[in-house]
Amino acid sequence: MENIIEVRNLTKAFSNKIVLKDVNFGVKKGETFGFLGPSGSGKTTTIKILTSQLLHTTGEINIFNQPLEKQKKHSYLRKVGILTDNSTLYERLSIYDNLLLYCKLYEVSKHRIDEVLKDVNLLKDKKTIVQKLSKGMKQRVVLARALLHKPEILFLDEPTSALDPVNTKHIYEGLRKLNQEGTTIFLTTHDMLEAEELCDRVAFLHQGKIKLLDTPQNLRLQFSKGSISLVLKGGNAITVKNDAQGAKQISSYMMNGELLSIHSNEPTLGDIFVQLTGSEL
Ligand code: ADP
Ligand code: MG
Repeated sequence: MENIIEVRNLTKAFSNKIVLKDVNFGVKKGETFGFLGPSGSGKTTTIKILTSQLLHTTGEINIFNQPLEKQKKHSYLRKVGILTDNSTLYERLSIYDNLLLYCKLYEVSKHRIDEVLKDVNLLKDKKTIVQKLSKGMKQRVVLARALLHKPEILFLDEPTSALDPVNTKHIYEGLRKLNQEGTTIFLTTHDMLEAEELCDRVAFLHQGKIKLLDTPQNLRLQFSKGSISLVLKGGNAITVKNDAQGAKQISSYMMNGELLSIHSNEPTLGDIFVQLTGSEL
């Protein structure tokens, strides 16, 4: 599959502070790509560079097979959707009227408004003035706005950081649907469960560098210690190797009716990150 985003040797410095150091990655058309890292690792900086809100210092960025700096800003912004912490709304207008303005801007039918509001679980609130909304609800309006024109690429900077679990689940469903309809998603998060839930591939960013890039499954296998945990009758927990010897042990516990539960010890993405960098997320 071709790369819709191609980043080569990207470096970003703020005066003399280097924030991104020689970052390389490609995002395939149609995938959900996770850019993971702890606070301060350079996620927002990267997303702002990719959405032309910030200039990079050195390196090459190709999006839609064209250098980013050669894209016409207006047509570029019509092909992408953006949710970052500086996405603002018209506080005195209702949710509906906020989105209506953007329908005009994007030349999208206003019928789309109800569809996107349903995706973010705000349909029944559409007449509410934005000023009266909680932070999480505003976050969902901004997301709805980013979805209005069914962008080819959706850039999301920590999209669920202000949301409760129920709304997070709604957003995940909405994003999966959008992705199935063909939108490529570039998502930053410090939430490893979110990455497991949504991403086809993930990059681990640490101190401005990409430390790993692969599918969550490959990463789990690569870092797996190859053991399986068993809980036996009486609550005794033991660990066996994931090999022929271990299989024999498991089988004998089963035959004897001693086995209560069994689970593999594959590491989570969070475990892998800690192992790799020595720092927590
Ligand atoms: P993340 O989104 O992963 O938390 P950021 O991209 O916001 O990280 O920030 C990465 C680093 O760049 C941080 O050390 C931050 O302080 C610094 N930084 C971000 N924006 C600026 C700026 N405008 N001027 C100077 N330093 C900045
Ligand atoms: Mg950030």
